[in-house]
Amino acid sequence: MTFVLLYHYQQQEIALQKLEESFANLPQQKKLKRDKAAFVEKQKKFVHDKTELQKIVSRLEKSEREKAICEEEAKKQNELLYSGLVSSQREIASLNQQIESLQEKTENLQEKVLQMMEQKEEKEKALHIMQQDLQHDYNAFQALKKEYEVQKKEINDAIAQKKEETEAVWNQLEEKWQQWYVNNKNYLRDMPLTILYKNNSCGHCHTVVPLMTGRHARKNPGTVRCEKCGRYFLAEEEMQ
Ligand SMILES: [Zn+2]
Repeated sequence: MTFVLLYHYQQQEIALQKLEESFANLPQQKKLKRDKAAFVEKQKKFVHDKTELQKIVSRLEKSEREKAICEEEAKKQNELLYSGLVSSQREIASLNQQIESLQEKTENLQEKVLQMMEQKEEKEKALHIMQQDLQHDYNAFQALKKEYEVQKKEINDAIAQKKEETEAVWNQLEEKWQQWYVNNKNYLRDMPLTILYKNNSCGHCHTVVPLMTGRHARKNPGTVRCEKCGRYFLAEEEMQ
């Protein structure tokens, strides 16, 4: 009876270990990590491109200001030209030349402004798409996180329950058997006991033991060990 309990205890422990392993290896956790890193990269690019847009906008505004100044200046020169205040041919020619040069400058600036407006529009469009993409990624991340939290909670609950069950079995064992288990567990890689099947094969390593050994193991549970894996035999019949 003691060995049956011990065996149950061992199986509970193995189940608990598996639960803890699955908890540590939840697929969502790895994916969350990867997705987060990708998201941060995208966000960096977004911030970078937004700064680029701001630079374009300030250059655009500067050119527009320059253009307005040129236009204002040309207007003044024009007014002067037709005011009748300038009469010498030389002055008139000079004024005309200035006006022409100002018009040329205005046209150049206008071209620059148009180019930059186009750049600005393109950047804005690209940023808009990036922003939508980021929002989409963020939502997907949150959904996965939620899923992960649910799974985590489920496994955590299962672990807590398994721990309770395991402890209940442990408490049914006499101290000397608890000690027996602990001592043997240390060098038998967490599994001191194995089932000896009716056909005399070891439940752990499947080695078939001689008839005499099998008979002896059945008479004395927990004393005969598998010659290959070293685990103590507990007859299948005992478990029923
Ligand atoms: Zn074995």
